[in-house]
Amino acid sequence: MRKKSIPAASSFFRQMIDLVPHFIFAKDAEGRYILANEAVAKAYGISAERICQLCDADFAPNAEEAAGFRRDDLEVLRSGKIKYINEVITDCDGNVRDLMTTKVPFDSPETGPGVLGICIDVTERNAALRKIAYLAEHCHLTGLPNRSQLSVFLEEPIQNGESCALLFVDLDQFKQINDSLGHCVGDVFLQLISARFEQARDPKDFVCRLGGDEFIFVLRNTSTDAVSAFSSELLRIVAEPVAINGMTLMITCSIGVAQSPEHGTAEDVLMKHADAALYKAKKLGRNAFQWYTEELQHAADRRLFVYNELQAAVRNGELELLVQPIVDAQSGVYGSAEALLRWHSRERGLISPDEFIPLAEESGLIRVIGNWVIEEACRMQRAWLDRGIDFHLSVNLSAQQLLEPGFEHYFRETCSAAGVPLEKIGLEITEGVLLGDVEAACGVLSSLSDSGVTVSVDDFGVGYSSLSYLRRLPLSILKIDRSFVKDCVENPDDATLVRTIIMLAKNLKLQVVAEGVETEAQVNFLCSEGVDFFQGYLFAKPMLAGDVAVHLEESALR
Ligand code: C2E
Ligand code: CA
Ligand code: CA
Repeated sequence: MRKKSIPAASSFFRQMIDLVPHFIFAKDAEGRYILANEAVAKAYGISAERICQLCDADFAPNAEEAAGFRRDDLEVLRSGKIKYINEVITDCDGNVRDLMTTKVPFDSPETGPGVLGICIDVTERNAALRKIAYLAEHCHLTGLPNRSQLSVFLEEPIQNGESCALLFVDLDQFKQINDSLGHCVGDVFLQLISARFEQARDPKDFVCRLGGDEFIFVLRNTSTDAVSAFSSELLRIVAEPVAINGMTLMITCSIGVAQSPEHGTAEDVLMKHADAALYKAKKLGRNAFQWYTEELQHAADRRLFVYNELQAAVRNGELELLVQPIVDAQSGVYGSAEALLRWHSRERGLISPDEFIPLAEESGLIRVIGNWVIEEACRMQRAWLDRGIDFHLSVNLSAQQLLEPGFEHYFRETCSAAGVPLEKIGLEITEGVLLGDVEAACGVLSSLSDSGVTVSVDDFGVGYSSLSYLRRLPLSILKIDRSFVKDCVENPDDATLVRTIIMLAKNLKLQVVAEGVETEAQVNFLCSEGVDFFQGYLFAKPMLAGDVAVHLEESALR
């Protein structure tokens, strides 16, 4: 019974090892195969029977590899210890395969000493690992290295004290392409620009995508002149038209540059400084490059302070809302006012809204601040109504607030909770609303306007004012920006501009407010051109809401 089972067990054993998809083999002390399963036979293209009695050198396509196998076998035989090896073999089809091999020494009465081997093919797994490693270091969209590689690249030049430059490149208004044409077009656009960057890069230099529409170049062993020349070149290649889906798109970029070792020798410092320079380049009107300077860092530090402290400012009661009365040009009567925000920082004193409102908009904090303004304006208006002061009050509204879902409901509720009729509150908007969802903005404004809210267009002439925008929005007032009023008496160009804006407003049946009126000469000119209302230091500076009554009495006496 037992004896009979031996050949059966042996063919069973054979069947089993042939089913294993890994190499299983045994060789004697001379390196001759005693056993090999199907997997080995298949890899080398000869039958499992024929392999037996052959050595690796007899059939392995690569002689060097065969010699390596033998060396390992001998080491295992000599040491009597198991050996784990990561090896590479070439199979009969010429494919190079990665193997994870275990070699075990044995000594059997039938064969004497030998080596038992098991190899697992890890070619695919290794390829996947390499892919993962690649993706960890590269941007999947553009194929450029990602941020992690910046530190790796910078290490050597910084350690050597080499003169190198870090260029922070940001596409100008790329968001508009994404928003208006969709992310697919945006992605293709980024790929094309990245390819241009990669082509422009000198082999010794580095470029990576930081994320979004931001890129970093590092130029090694460079000079100020070379950096300037390269920056100009980047501006030029970005500005070249891009053709996507039959459309021709144009974009520009802004570049901030910091140089090592002059501006810093640590990655984060260079990044910070290049970023400060980039901010300046954007401020200067974009499509430009800017070197880092110390003053820029002070400005950047200040921005950071504003960012960080603004949130606390709301909580700590550091915000204040003033009002600036507006006078009727014909009657000289004060009938309305504009609410203007002030920030009294405990640490840095008075900070202008011109400085912190843009940062609040960038950070999204404008919603919290804007809501505070609306609630405060309602409280003030209620207090006036209670004292019998009939005064219209308008607040400045950022596009983001207007486009916030639920804004209309919030605004109505706030006014109603404070007991303020909607006809007593106005909203001042700028052309900024054109950059967002115009339909949605029109919807909200029309609905509020139907309920009696006055809508003014603010800073007219400064942005991308378009006629269709003026026609579509439910406007009743147009405010001429103070920059045009300023020189309208001395400068004929400004006079023409003011005249044209007034004509335009009249054609659209809008009332006109002139902002920033400081002199009698301006009043005379503006009056003769048909301006309806004046707002400016000549009449009243921004004041506490409680002081309005006093101001009205004083002006009535005059
Ligand atoms: P704006 O809406 O154009 O406000 C008019 C600005 O002109 C105010 O500056 C006002 O103080 C100033 N001004 C008025 N009359 C004169 C004058 O005769 N001469 C001169 N030189 N300036 C005059 P302010 O208060 O510094 O506000 C600046 C800007 O900040 C505002 O410009 C507005 O865009 C923004 N802002 C102010 N408060 C708020 C707010 O509550 N929300 C939002 N989103 N923005 C606000
Ligand atoms: Ca305003
Ligand atoms: Ca204005």
